[in-house]
Amino acid sequence: MLLKIVQAGDDTLYRNARKLSITQLKTAKIQLLIDLMIATLRDKPGVGLAAPQVGEALQIIVIEDKKQYQEKLSEEMLTYQKRRPVGLTVIINPTITILDAGEEYFFEGCLSVEGYRAVVPRAKHVTISGLDRDGASIVIDADGWLARIAQHEVDHLSGDLYIDKMYVKSFIAEKYFSNNWADPDPLKMNEYVNALRSIGE
Ligand code: ZN
Repeated sequence: MLLKIVQAGDDTLYRNARKLSITQLKTAKIQLLIDLMIATLRDKPGVGLAAPQVGEALQIIVIEDKKQYQEKLSEEMLTYQKRRPVGLTVIINPTITILDAGEEYFFEGCLSVEGYRAVVPRAKHVTISGLDRDGASIVIDADGWLARIAQHEVDHLSGDLYIDKMYVKSFIAEKYFSNNWADPDPLKMNEYVNALRSIGE
């Protein structure tokens, strides 16, 4: 069974998600929700999903960035984005600590803003602290693309979408993104993003 992913406009996306106690986390109901979130993320596929996106205002995020999702991108682009495969990671009650507030700028999409992308600034290096699905404490050191995914997903838990943080003029339909950036050249993308930043500022 897959869960329905709600779209921008759904009330759950704009609320603060509730923390889970370890007792709540261990219930069959929450463990099933986690399993279904993983199945739903893989079905799309996407690299991150937060519980509010499936209509549950709870502090649960799931991240997975498989090597096969990265095959369309050149080595150059993967290096530029600092994108490496990330195994399945479930984090409960996650909090982000910024280690390097210097910003990186890339296009981002969201399964709850289907069909669009925009350039979003994100901190370069963070840690994500929380619990794993069994209730054990975890701390994940994340830079580059994983830092971006984590910041995006944790924002969902306080009712923020990437469109709250994007460069407004960079908001484009997926088809234009695919046409222009299907085989992106990191230098060209960098120039483009810098041009957008100067419009926005
Ligand atoms: Zn999202």
